[in-house]
Amino acid sequence: MKKLLSTQRSETPHWVGDGFPVRTIFSYNDLGREISPFLLMDYAGPTEFPPSRHIRGVGEHPHRGFETVTIVYEGEVEHRDSSGGGGLIGPGDVQWMTAASGLVHEEKHGAEFAKKGGQFEMVQLWVNLPAKDKMTKPKYQGLRNAQIPQVTLDGDAGTLRVIAGEFQGAKGPAATFTPIELWDVRAKKDRDLKLSLPEGHTVSVFVLSGEIETLDGRKLSDAEIGVFERESTELAFKATQDTKLLILAGKPLGEPVVGYGPFVMNSMMEIRQAFDDFNAGRMGQLGEIEGSES
Ligand code: MN
Repeated sequence: MKKLLSTQRSETPHWVGDGFPVRTIFSYNDLGREISPFLLMDYAGPTEFPPSRHIRGVGEHPHRGFETVTIVYEGEVEHRDSSGGGGLIGPGDVQWMTAASGLVHEEKHGAEFAKKGGQFEMVQLWVNLPAKDKMTKPKYQGLRNAQIPQVTLDGDAGTLRVIAGEFQGAKGPAATFTPIELWDVRAKKDRDLKLSLPEGHTVSVFVLSGEIETLDGRKLSDAEIGVFERESTELAFKATQDTKLLILAGKPLGEPVVGYGPFVMNSMMEIRQAFDDFNAGRMGQLGEIEGSES
């Protein structure tokens, strides 16, 4: 049975652009070093946005060296990047964007959502790439709710959606560079969950809402992440309330992590190169959107 090693939460929200009121749950300056290949997690909302003619979000900015994975729980996110990737995602959908050698992108609320307003809730993860793949071509995977298999947990304990990796024979649609399990779980109150994970993978559990309790009596609740030991294959806990949680697991990369702002590489020299390439326009540019409202 896996032991819970540490827990972490953030009480201090900040805005990303004018669209995303986020709490940074972990970054590569803290837990991200222990839970490789995951580098960072921003949890946006839940927040109610009023109807608006202005489309909120964050404007053109670059990334290099990793992937951004955006999971929408409520609301809509629209993305556009300089490699030609883009799309609108809504509740249950996931955007898996590989920045790799570099791109610039913008992330906005969907136009319809902005107009109507409503509840917004989203998670964005940064997933590291192995050194040998950091300079490969950018890629975009828009994963629809309907493509993501859902498994009913033993003992009617809830449901598990497989975004990446495999659970009880159900395979997630995300193509990943290294072995990763990313599971969206709804656990029912007073039920026990037992989930099997590959030996040696890093494992953490992020609780969006509700509460879980480990077998040794430690609790994790709203907007809190817990890191479990890599040893053993069984993750077990009880949901003390109806709980929405995300399981992040993966094979650790074991390579140096050197990041600055929107770039995460393996050395300071590569970070300087990233700034040079971005400043010289080598990560591309976004064209103007025709007919967009300001
Ligand atoms: Mn971004």
